[in-house]
Amino acid sequence: MRKVISLNAASFILKGDLCDSLDRERLRTVPDGYLVCLDGLCAGAFSVLPEEYRALPVVDCSGKLIFPGLTDLHVHAPQYAFRGLGMDQELMEWLAANVFPEEARYADLAYARRAYRDFTQALTRSATTRACVFATVHRPATELLMDLLEESGLVAFVGKVNMDRDCPDDLRETTDGSVAETRRWLEETAGKYKRVRPILTPRFIPSCTDPLLDELGAMAAMTGLSVQSHLSENRGEVECVRRLRPDTAFYGDAYDRHGLFGSHGRAIMAHCVLSSDEEIARIRERGVYVAHCPQSNTNLASGVAPVRRYWDEGLNLGLGSDVAGGSSLSILRAMADAVQVSKLRWRLQDDSLRPLTVPEAFWIGTAGGGSFFGRVGLFRPGYEFDAVVLDDSRLTAPRPLTVAQRLERAVYLSEDRDVVRKFVQGREVSLPS
Ligand SMILES: [Zn+2]
Repeated sequence: MRKVISLNAASFILKGDLCDSLDRERLRTVPDGYLVCLDGLCAGAFSVLPEEYRALPVVDCSGKLIFPGLTDLHVHAPQYAFRGLGMDQELMEWLAANVFPEEARYADLAYARRAYRDFTQALTRSATTRACVFATVHRPATELLMDLLEESGLVAFVGKVNMDRDCPDDLRETTDGSVAETRRWLEETAGKYKRVRPILTPRFIPSCTDPLLDELGAMAAMTGLSVQSHLSENRGEVECVRRLRPDTAFYGDAYDRHGLFGSHGRAIMAHCVLSSDEEIARIRERGVYVAHCPQSNTNLASGVAPVRRYWDEGLNLGLGSDVAGGSSLSILRAMADAVQVSKLRWRLQDDSLRPLTVPEAFWIGTAGGGSFFGRVGLFRPGYEFDAVVLDDSRLTAPRPLTVAQRLERAVYLSEDRDVVRKFVQGREVSLPS
């Protein structure tokens, strides 16, 4: 019997040169193919359109690349305003000189509105469809950011940052104040959005006292909310944690002791450049997501995370721009950076871990990070329909290239302006000019 299909705005066909991952190692391409969206979900990618879908409207993007929306698993919205500044410093120095003075400005809602509008527009313009976003300690500005992201049509987790020690006075919360504001933020945003959700966001161990982490852990246990933070990023930071928390076996253990390492809600830990064997074992055990941020790790002289090892051990893995530690918001750029730094690590540091391939980096930036949001990042039946249409005609070549070769070049050479259409959960997102 023929399936009955409801013809609504979220059911249509995208026609073009399709590319997603066949598995973790290989791309799948469908030249001049049909990507079917039914009520916001992908029904499959076909080279010949099945009879049952013939009645659906076709969005003709022939000749353009169509790939799954990208996930930015770690980005700081307030830092977008000073991206590209202070890139000759190291992490702790850069935090004090650039990050904290800028984040203090978000107490001013008018400033936050201007800056967060810029950030949201840039993210909307990019090939990213999903993001896990740090705001600042300020509740009103965090709620404003959530409003803007909801309006954009992107899907995001957003966190009000918690910090009650070791930062400038104008950013430091009291422990009780941090807990109360976090509770109020959760109450005020509960049920308010379709696409934006809260995520608990202790900045990192150096800026959070034990009582604050205890309270956040209790909130995670009670609500099941996910957690995002930083882990084993930089030598100075790891040393600092060792001094501050002599009671813990390793850095990640300091989160785990408070129930903030995937034992209640899920957890994303950015960086994991310097994780010990014990820490990696705990990450695996708890299903913690590692957000690999290669450009940030280069800019802030943090090092190169052993991503091949994480890949081989099957850890949950996604890519992060980590703006403004990373100066670029592009996850396509993060894919290229991930390949490049893995080659340097292999050449200079440890030749037992072979470099990443482009299809592997593509998988991490689509299906890898996307899985934090559910069935996201592949053109498979039942996956949420997130798709990017990219016009690569600017990237000329004197001979025909395969769809896979064109995608590979787009990873290295395309720019946000080449993204011509973008769909999230089957809805078209309006791209800012
Ligand atoms: Zn970060």
